[in-house]
Amino acid sequence: SPLTMALETQTKTVVGQFDYSDEDVNKGVVEFLRQMAEGLEKDGASMSQIPTYVTAVPNGTEKGLYMAVDLGGTNFRVCSIQLNGDTTFRLTYTKVAIPRELMVAKTAEELFAFLAKQVEIFLRTHHGEHFEAHIRRRMTMSSPEGFKDENVFRLGFTFSFPVQQLGINKGTLIRWTKGFDIPDAVGKDVCALLQTEIDKLHLPVKVAALVNDTVGTLMARSYSSPGKSGAILGAIFGTGTNGAYVEKLSNIKKPLAGEYDKSTGEMVINTEWGSFDNQLKVLPNTPWDVQLDLATPNPGIQMYEKRVSGMYLGEILRLTVIDLLKNPDVALFKDDNSSYNDWKSTTNIAEHSPIYKQWGLDTSVLSVAAADSTPELSILRQELEANLHIYAPSLEDAQAFKAIAGAIGRRAARLSAVAIAAIVLQTGKLNDPEQDGPIDIGVDGSLVEHYPYFRDMIYEALRAIKGIGEEGAKRIRIGIAKDGSGVGAALIALVAARME
Ligand code: ADP
Repeated sequence: SPLTMALETQTKTVVGQFDYSDEDVNKGVVEFLRQMAEGLEKDGASMSQIPTYVTAVPNGTEKGLYMAVDLGGTNFRVCSIQLNGDTTFRLTYTKVAIPRELMVAKTAEELFAFLAKQVEIFLRTHHGEHFEAHIRRRMTMSSPEGFKDENVFRLGFTFSFPVQQLGINKGTLIRWTKGFDIPDAVGKDVCALLQTEIDKLHLPVKVAALVNDTVGTLMARSYSSPGKSGAILGAIFGTGTNGAYVEKLSNIKKPLAGEYDKSTGEMVINTEWGSFDNQLKVLPNTPWDVQLDLATPNPGIQMYEKRVSGMYLGEILRLTVIDLLKNPDVALFKDDNSSYNDWKSTTNIAEHSPIYKQWGLDTSVLSVAAADSTPELSILRQELEANLHIYAPSLEDAQAFKAIAGAIGRRAARLSAVAIAAIVLQTGKLNDPEQDGPIDIGVDGSLVEHYPYFRDMIYEALRAIKGIGEEGAKRIRIGIAKDGSGVGAALIALVAARME
């Protein structure tokens, strides 16, 4: 019918608007490199390029028993990690919900005392022997001064709120997010807050490192992946997106505040690339990107993340679908015999469909659409019916939905390639004669893990990038790195302990 033909034409137009050509990708890389350099030079650049004071990555031979804790949202995770020294490890972990009243406690002490208490419970439950041995030694010691205690656990503290990092185990809270609000803690060193409460309980634990989750991903990948040179980049494509990479100290032009080990000549930089190109010099900007941005609490900020990460892709798709639904000339999700005066009442969509709610579409629906290659798109049509409350979607409906969702996912993957390529080029590893073996990159997050062919689409774009090409792309190895906030944090604690 003319209506379905119009839908096909309209779908093509929308898909075309999400096109991100090889030429665009190359322009993106050049600008990404420029903004990286700017961030290394001064504070207040679009990409923050935060020095982490981590000056080495592991190679898989590290050994020992370490602890890690993770405070980032609704749960507090406590774990211990036995590193076996052969790229494997054993992780023991518990998780406890943070009581709501502590998220808005009067004093920082209340929250951090609770966290320290969880560390104590974990130690007693899982490391009772170690714990008692330590206590006994403590009691019999006449003079603790100058005593180097192998029984003290080194702990990596993953703290996923904005902090001003001042050293490997020192950082002040800039502001709370995600429902936390304890003004008393703002401006204070969160490692010291935790250490103070741990000491009150006389626990054999030293907070050795303050950890960002991307740095944890880089460390976890470096430990676990085969090869002796370690990963160059850890990247997250989950709710948000960010990356941390190994930079030469000589390239870090802005002043470094804290103490650090200069012997490796390198330092891990947390790029905060979610805010790459907030100025929109090279990022694509469809009408739906504009709409999405205006509806967020932080318009004009995190503009790269808003085109790449799981939190936003479902919403971009929803906004394009709404526009098609409002268009009387196309038949998306409509009965053939309805009239089109009121777009909501004439569609085949239930009033309470998540399509009508901001943030109503989860990015996982893009994965369902991309994964369904059955001729009748029956899996996707079932999903549309069951979860989006669209009655009896036609094959044409599902085809249009799949094409647009695919275009949004593809653009996200090609934008991801921009960041990855720029960092590969920045490290110079492709032209480094000492770089034998692959150039290793660790990635984590639902999008890269579950979106079908996400990595293949990244590679496709990498091959088209000047300075990488077919040959370079073959040398880049992108692998999943799990447990950044567990084993990764433990590894940072290990690296930090070596510098003590
Ligand atoms: P986080 O980044 O918060 O640690 P995840 O890596 O699991 O957690 O990412 C969660 C994000 O991934 C959410 O925005 C969600 O919409 C998206 N997501 C969840 N499942 C999938 C999937 N199967 N395909 C694509 N995206 C998904």
